[in-house]
Amino acid sequence: MDWETLNSTECVNILNADTRRGLSDREAQKRLKKNGKNELIPPKKKNLLLRFLSQFSDFMVIILLIAAAISFVTSYLQQDADYIDSIIILVIVVLNAFIGLVQESRAEKAIEALKKMSSPHACVLRGGKLRNIPASDLVTGDLVQLKSGDMVPADIRLLESHDLRCEESALTGESLPVEKNAAQRCPAGTALGDRKNMLFSSSVLTAGNGTGVVVATGMDTQVGKIAGMLSAQEAPKTPLQLKLAQTGRWLGLGALAICAVIFVMGLLQRVLPLDMFLISISLAVAAIPEGLPAVVTIVLAAGVKRMAAKKGIVRHMPAVETLGSASVICSDKTGTLTQNRMTVTELWTASGTAGISSADGQRVLALSALCNNSTQQNGHYLGEPTETALAEACRTDKSELDRQYPRVMEIAFSSSRKMMTTVHRLPDGRFRIISKGAPDVLLGRCQHTGVTAQAARKNEEMARRALRVIGVAVRDVANLPPRREDCEQGLSLLGLVGMIDPPRPGVKEAVETCKQAGIRPVMITGDHQATASAIAGELGILTERSAAITGKELDALPQQELEKRIYDYTVFARVSPEHKVRIVKAFQARGEVVAMTGDGVNDAPALKSADIGCAMGRGGTDVAKEAADLILADDNFTTIVAAVKEGRGIYDNIKKTIHFLLSCNIGEILTVFVGFLLGLPTPLLAIQLLWVNLVTDSLPALALGVEPIEWDIMKRSPAKKGESVFAGGMGYSILVEGCLIGSLSLLAFTIGRLFFDTAPANPIVGRTMAFAVLSLAQVAHTFNMRSRGREGKAAESRATRRSRLGAAAAICIALQSMVIIFPPLAAIFKVMPLSFGQWAIVAGLSLLPLLLGEVERRWNRRKRVDSVKQQARWQRYKKPR
Ligand code: ATP
Repeated sequence: MDWETLNSTECVNILNADTRRGLSDREAQKRLKKNGKNELIPPKKKNLLLRFLSQFSDFMVIILLIAAAISFVTSYLQQDADYIDSIIILVIVVLNAFIGLVQESRAEKAIEALKKMSSPHACVLRGGKLRNIPASDLVTGDLVQLKSGDMVPADIRLLESHDLRCEESALTGESLPVEKNAAQRCPAGTALGDRKNMLFSSSVLTAGNGTGVVVATGMDTQVGKIAGMLSAQEAPKTPLQLKLAQTGRWLGLGALAICAVIFVMGLLQRVLPLDMFLISISLAVAAIPEGLPAVVTIVLAAGVKRMAAKKGIVRHMPAVETLGSASVICSDKTGTLTQNRMTVTELWTASGTAGISSADGQRVLALSALCNNSTQQNGHYLGEPTETALAEACRTDKSELDRQYPRVMEIAFSSSRKMMTTVHRLPDGRFRIISKGAPDVLLGRCQHTGVTAQAARKNEEMARRALRVIGVAVRDVANLPPRREDCEQGLSLLGLVGMIDPPRPGVKEAVETCKQAGIRPVMITGDHQATASAIAGELGILTERSAAITGKELDALPQQELEKRIYDYTVFARVSPEHKVRIVKAFQARGEVVAMTGDGVNDAPALKSADIGCAMGRGGTDVAKEAADLILADDNFTTIVAAVKEGRGIYDNIKKTIHFLLSCNIGEILTVFVGFLLGLPTPLLAIQLLWVNLVTDSLPALALGVEPIEWDIMKRSPAKKGESVFAGGMGYSILVEGCLIGSLSLLAFTIGRLFFDTAPANPIVGRTMAFAVLSLAQVAHTFNMRSRGREGKAAESRATRRSRLGAAAAICIALQSMVIIFPPLAAIFKVMPLSFGQWAIVAGLSLLPLLLGEVERRWNRRKRVDSVKQQARWQRYKKPR
């Protein structure tokens, strides 16, 4: 149907829509059943088998498969018919691929759930009531209200439009917004981009507001017809994941190089080539941390889920890592730091301060209720809190006022303009122009009289008491000015309305947490400087060491100068969304990692340029949500701080896992490599190495990854931008601990071989002891990773920590013992049951890393206490930044 060629009444009739009450719930249900959900059907996913096979495309897994093949060929050539090695390798690789597949599906599900949570909603008239419903429930014939910042939820024929502009680049490729007009009718064959009376799904409203009737949903929309656009979205890899994949590849290549060297050296020493092959391959297997990518993905996915439970919805995985290093949080005031529950408490009129219920006061409020887009439902007003507060304070019903003074025109409010204007027809045929907005802006449009000067003073005084002040001005005219913008000139100021908006509970504490965590909280607001400063002072954002600056002053400051002085300010008042980008850039130029909140269409550039863009889940526009990395489901500042804490926790746990796995791998390499250099028979066989690597390593690594957050995580400074995961001495620790584990298992091997093996050329007891020590020492080493936990007061979290890590350790110990004690398994793994004395030696050696770790921890704690004391002394002299 060519809806653009019909007039609006024809469209409404064809669709059986009702412009007064909207569709009934029953009718909507019926249509939903018939036409299906308003969703684009994504292309089919790869089937399970293909996804399973794709697990084997990993570089590390390929090396393992090569190892299996070589082991198979070796057994075959040796004609020992002992294929068990290669079978075990295969079983372990398949098991690993299976775990990978399960994890991948889990991560995908988590991402899908996230997508659902941030899916757009639509404001629709159903059964006579305005409702906010998921866009997927829209049906043809629904009446939809749209405003600037909304994503168009379906194909819509406009019925009414005010100043409407729409960006349709998703469909037409044209990035400049086009004007839309409900009154226009298009001839048949008009190109998509020129259909002025239509809105198309997936485009974005950049200005104005309007209503329209849904004409097509789901795959019937224009965007649904462009099938190629629907590519399944993959979760982007985080910088850390990319870096790890790269490190993994380098480790793999390095291992292959070592293998080649050893192989050649072995040949020179006249060792059998096939034996050399096995040693080399077992070494390669030991060198590669196969479990790492899987564990990192699990840790990230689990963290994202935890964040969602705390109302922080992550849209891009990389944001999780960046969150952990956030060092500046720039937050809007209204609704994020404050409750956005406005109540009118004070009124000033040109005739002097007037009570809210006085006749003068009510006249100002009635005008503000007319120049107002809130709607009445069940005796309450819905809409912008500033506007509902004004309508509620007015004793006359808004609908009654609207009937008496019908609106003929509107110039919409925007955060940049900070005012709005409506034009109403008076009973005598003339027009009344009503403007309301920030007094400092409004006064510039008013005729200058004694009242304006008085009003400016009163505005300052009210703002200093943390009141949000709205000015109301009017002008009656016989004929409307030819240009719209001329309506907003020569107005007469009638009064100022003051309203309170109390801080959100918990914000003050969250600000304090930020400060302790080395994060700078900054307030950015469209509100008056005095109002902003009063609230910022109350919350602890503005202190005697920092200052407030206005958008106007910012305009006078060149960017370079702003960068230099950026640390002087913690409050930016009367700013427009455009200023936010400058503030982000200035902080970034000083090396800070910036989180920035935003809700409007114009906030999108700032959200994109910030390191972490945070959009408001409730009050935010679809455009802001699309541009953001994190959506705050409750629009709350404390949620950002909680998300930063989670982000730090996740990064910390990933670091622990990397630390653990790499130190274990180094231990394994050293055991085999040094054993070989010393001319000993290989201390560990390929399947033993694989077992330790893929089975007994993985569980503790996983447990470490999901550890509760350390109690002092928000008392540390943020990680530096681009800092390596190995920073802070971690690389050194990995090396030292790896050497320790390697030496211990070599020692066990030597003891077993020299004292217990009857045939040292085939050191089965030595290998069994080395195998046991390698695996058990690693289990003990896990407990070294939770270095700071003991110091904290978080007894409760310690209990869970103990139980998780404890369970992982217990399972590993049981598995490892079973392999050695249970004869059929012992035969497969080429080990033998140990005597009591041998077990005692194994236990003693395995516990050593834990003992040494404890000594190191105590030593570090002492050092830390000293340095904290020193820092405190230094802080007293340090000048504020
Ligand atoms: P924040 O940026 O922290 O959310 P804000 O809500 O005060 O702060 P804006 O919404 O940009 O920022 O509002 C800026 C100013 O515009 C307000 O201080 C107020 O004076 C005025 N204002 C706000 N809402 C309206 C409205 N609906 N109509 C007219 N003026 C308004």
